[in-house]
Amino acid sequence: MPEDRVYGLEIGADDYLTKPFSLNELILRVDKLAEKKKVIRRLKEETKSLHSSIHEKESSLKRVVHDLKNPLLSMGASAKRMLRRNQNEEELKILENIYDSSIRLTRWIDDMLFSDHSLQKIKEGMREVEIKSMVQQAIDLLKEASREKKIEIHFEASPSIPLVYCHEQLFFRAIENLLGNALKYTPEGGKVDVTITSYLPWRDGGVIEISIKDTGIGILEEDIEKIFDPFYRGRNSLSETGAGLGLSFVKEVVDLHGGRILVQSEPRKGSIFSVLLPIRVKFKL
Ligand code: ADP
Repeated sequence: MPEDRVYGLEIGADDYLTKPFSLNELILRVDKLAEKKKVIRRLKEETKSLHSSIHEKESSLKRVVHDLKNPLLSMGASAKRMLRRNQNEEELKILENIYDSSIRLTRWIDDMLFSDHSLQKIKEGMREVEIKSMVQQAIDLLKEASREKKIEIHFEASPSIPLVYCHEQLFFRAIENLLGNALKYTPEGGKVDVTITSYLPWRDGGVIEISIKDTGIGILEEDIEKIFDPFYRGRNSLSETGAGLGLSFVKEVVDLHGGRILVQSEPRKGSIFSVLLPIRVKFKL
């Protein structure tokens, strides 16, 4: 009966023959199945060995990347020392460029190696933080870049934003990454709006939303699902420099805080990145 065939397949039969059948047909079917199983076994073995070789390569890449950090930092420090001396304008520009690049590369390295941080260490760094001044600091840090591109940054926070329990350094870097992207992917003369809104009460104690809206190039529909993957770069943004690690870092940090990150975007119009963060929910590990 048809239901018997379905039942047989459901509980694990590979195939079936209905009577009457010839011996040749049986042999051919069994041969085919045996061949298929062999291929599946081989593919499984190959996948396993590929996984382990990817893992090995990843570990050695991380070691190399980690070792790059010290010379980069020392390059940056030397440029900074020379910057303090009086230089002419051209030399000043070159030194600033060396300094900025070394800082940028060091940050990429930190973002890439972030998943290696021990959770215990992260937990120890959690405390109640004043988000409004943290966001203001991140904006101040990027003032120069925004001035250079003639991009106006407008910041508004709803009154009495409560303290938020978070890892200050990591969260600061996450916000800096989002702001940095907004500036990087917005052409000259654009606008970036940063807002903090608190929604109280919500579940155990409310939620705050940090939203960064730009008038930049936007994100293509086919990219939007993938931009939080490590090393993924949008197809319309390849003319800008980047390693595709910023947003994966941001997402990891937001996830660690029990929050969510949302994105809305329209190509050639702009993007809005919103981070939703629970206020009093303690760190979940
Ligand atoms: P990177 O900027 O180094 O490419 P990110 O991980 O920070 O890496 O971002 C991944 C991709 O998401 C970018 O390549 C870009 O396509 C897209 N993206 C991120 N932020 C913005 C933004 N504000 N406007 C437009 N595209 C963005």
